[in-house]
Amino acid sequence: MQCPICGNELSPDAVNCEKCGATRVTQRTPVGVLVGWLGMTVALLWAILGAPLLILPFTERGISGFPWPVFIVGVVIAAGLLWYSKSTVHSIWVRKED
Ligand SMILES: [Zn+2]
Repeated sequence: MQCPICGNELSPDAVNCEKCGATRVTQRTPVGVLVGWLGMTVALLWAILGAPLLILPFTERGISGFPWPVFIVGVVIAAGLLWYSKSTVHSIWVRKED
């Protein structure tokens, strides 16, 4: 591959350019970052919601009264959001800061 800043030939896995000092940074898109936070929030909320699962089997109520469909949908949504966020990761080259 070539350095997009100066055109210097680089190895495919190069993270910086020896000629112009540009560095490659990996980042998510702004939407990806936002969705990532959303996914983390849902995951956290569901972790709290799922906490009773640790004790419910030992109570008289059992886990049959647990809202499984809601819980599973939430887990799927959180996983989907986090997956989408991860899929927006891309690398860009930035010029050396003087
Ligand atoms: Zn360069």
